[in-house]
Amino acid sequence: MPEKTGADAPQFEPVIGLEVHVELSTKSKLFCGCSTAFNAPPNSQTCPVCLGLPGVLPVLNRTAVEFGIRTALALNCQVAGFSKFDRKNYFYPDLPKNYQISQYDLPLATCGHVEVCADGLRRRVRIKRVHVEEDAGKSVHESGTITGSRFSLEDYNRTGVPLLEIVSEPDITSPSEAYAYLSTLKSILRYLDVSDCKMEEGSLRCDANISVRPKGSCVLGTPVELKNLNSFRAVEKALAYEYRRQAEALARGERIERETRHWDESRQVTVVMRRKEEADDYRYFPDPDLVPLQIDEEWVEAVRGTLPELPGDRRERFAREYGIPEYDAAILTESKDLADYFEAAVEAYGKDAKTVSNWVMGELARLMNATDTEIRRVRVAPCALAAMLRMMDDGTISGKIAKTVFEEMFCTGKEPERIVTERGLVQIADEDELARIVDEVVAENRDAADGVRAGNDRAIGFLVGQVMKKTHGRANPQAVNRLLRERLLPG
Ligand SMILES: [Zn+2]
Repeated sequence: MPEKTGADAPQFEPVIGLEVHVELSTKSKLFCGCSTAFNAPPNSQTCPVCLGLPGVLPVLNRTAVEFGIRTALALNCQVAGFSKFDRKNYFYPDLPKNYQISQYDLPLATCGHVEVCADGLRRRVRIKRVHVEEDAGKSVHESGTITGSRFSLEDYNRTGVPLLEIVSEPDITSPSEAYAYLSTLKSILRYLDVSDCKMEEGSLRCDANISVRPKGSCVLGTPVELKNLNSFRAVEKALAYEYRRQAEALARGERIERETRHWDESRQVTVVMRRKEEADDYRYFPDPDLVPLQIDEEWVEAVRGTLPELPGDRRERFAREYGIPEYDAAILTESKDLADYFEAAVEAYGKDAKTVSNWVMGELARLMNATDTEIRRVRVAPCALAAMLRMMDDGTISGKIAKTVFEEMFCTGKEPERIVTERGLVQIADEDELARIVDEVVAENRDAADGVRAGNDRAIGFLVGQVMKKTHGRANPQAVNRLLRERLLPG
């Protein structure tokens, strides 16, 4: 099957691994009590520990470790009973200690996997390791870019914020699968409530490794690392570009350089950042200020007991329990809040879950997109949606009017009954009144009426439309259709 990359290189295949950094949403930093709140004034959330001043000692944040265990279990990993913290030494202005506390040879967890659905196939992507580390600070360049600035400023608020690094095995076989993997991971992390995963605020970041090899070969090609991937779409596009670039080079008989490349969003190309002659030498060594991290079985089991139903399980249950299509179940369970909303609405409605699903994925999703509203802030309560659906069922309002009512519910948070009364939207149930309007429309549109008599079915549609217009959508289209046929096509 050709890869969805746009590359005309069917004799090659990409081998992709992703490294994801997730900022944990703990209240305080990994080794000190400083706040982790986003967007505070520069350097207002720092102390001697996270600034790396002499003579201070780090103290490990228990919640951060617990979030790590939660994540590891949800990713089907083995949590290590014994792991340790190491110093990763390098010099960069955003790193005040000149080392980062991370985990090297003994990470928190290893050997997991996630199920990913892409291009209509469900596949398993193995997780190599999950480890805990501290974030670095943030350089703010005078003119926005490092090359065009006379100076840079350092904001150390982010220094020491707990991160999880989640490293996949090179199991990902296409750019679209990389996208699906990231979406799945984000969904799981949000269900776990361990991170808000806001890529635009830097709380989820991703680097990708990609190599290309002849299709069917088991030898790995030279990997290229991609950085500066600011959205899931950027990851997908950068990988597609890089696959094409490498496949074309290999087809010409060229060698792929081991290097780090940067995704240039404006030009939609990858460009070389640096060549890698040797593996990076960070001179890792165990942090002498921190004792090894020992996690007993009881702690792991206690955390396991608090895991919520995860998106994959919930998706399967929705399809089974509510009899909705797999596609609906997948969309509705992407976020926990949306899944909760759907379940509450189905319960309040008490019947056909597919109708609820259609409204949630249709009108509700449309209005949420149009107004950039999160499900958490939607003003239509699930029971109000159910009440509106019942008004449709009992004929109080037509399906067309329901859309108008729902839109007003969405904008104002009013109950459907109130909107229908206030705006006089009740469906015209009185057969005589409806017949009178039908007669009026027939009289006003003699040509169309003659057309119907001559057997033109499209003319009927036109007349139904005229009645709907005259009644501002309050007529029942089926009833109008029937009345028109009775009048114009007797017998
Ligand atoms: Zn601090």
